[in-house]
Amino acid sequence: MKTFPLNSTTYIPALGLGTWKLKGDECVSTVLKALEIGYRHIDTADAYENHQEVAQGIKQSGIKREEIFITTKVWHDEINEPNLNKSAKRFLEELQTDYLDLLLIHWPNKDIPITESLEELNILKQEGVIKAIGVSNFTIHHLQDALKTGIEVASNQVEFHPSLNQKELKNFCDQNKIVITAYSPLARGYDLELPVIKDLSQKYAKTPSQVILNWLVNKGIVAIPKSSSPQRLLENFQSLDWQIDSADIELIDTINENHRTVTPVFAEFDY
Ligand code: NAP
Repeated sequence: MKTFPLNSTTYIPALGLGTWKLKGDECVSTVLKALEIGYRHIDTADAYENHQEVAQGIKQSGIKREEIFITTKVWHDEINEPNLNKSAKRFLEELQTDYLDLLLIHWPNKDIPITESLEELNILKQEGVIKAIGVSNFTIHHLQDALKTGIEVASNQVEFHPSLNQKELKNFCDQNKIVITAYSPLARGYDLELPVIKDLSQKYAKTPSQVILNWLVNKGIVAIPKSSSPQRLLENFQSLDWQIDSADIELIDTINENHRTVTPVFAEFDY
């Protein structure tokens, strides 16, 4: 599996399994199936309430912990001191692991100073509880505030797909060595129906999902599609064994519709 450097010591697999909405036995069997197919990167969150099922899937796979990259996220009302530290330690128990590869602030929270949150995350990193610090749903403005602390932010997980191509944010992250992880990379199915994507799917004899995932990874973006279907898990996993032409990368770059699928009331996208 292709990887991207995350910070000076860790690498992140370019493709991961998203687990939002996966619960109970379906979560266990999907994580297990994904690992059997070859996925080595699982994306979860405290808010998904599936840490224990993710851990069970990993355990049943028999694959060594160090071969799997685990990302989880702390909810935005827990990113203060001492709750962030307590949450992270609980995550270790729930996920049956000694460390997390990447811990993200799930959403920004203007009522809690970012310095407080990042200093807590930095302590966890120094303790070896986490390998890398990240954020999610941060705008350029949030990232500028975060960077002022001097604490390394390795990844920003945001919604990113052809119909929400956040070019300015991507440029800013590139300039500051922050890896973008694309959530809802298929726009939950919406982008699979875009005419340009369908045309390219025919041209390359690949599925629409494979075209989109190949485009993302070729732009240096990590993608974490969710599927509970074994067939689609395999389809998504096989999206990187070919190369989209640079002209077609540019063609997909023209699609943007500012089509956002995740818009909770507490989002700070206008910050
Ligand atoms: P997504 O991955 O863009 O789309 C998932 C949907 O597409 C599911 O309904 C799935 O159905 C379907 N699908 C998957 N592969 C397919 C394929 N090859 N062909 C056709 N349909 C396919 O959306 P998402 O679940 O919102 O995002 C992915 C992950 O990102 C989440 O699971 C979560 O881990 C993360 N996320 C993070 C945040 C955040 O705030 N940080 C927010 C949202 C999501 P089936 O399951 O039936 O295949």
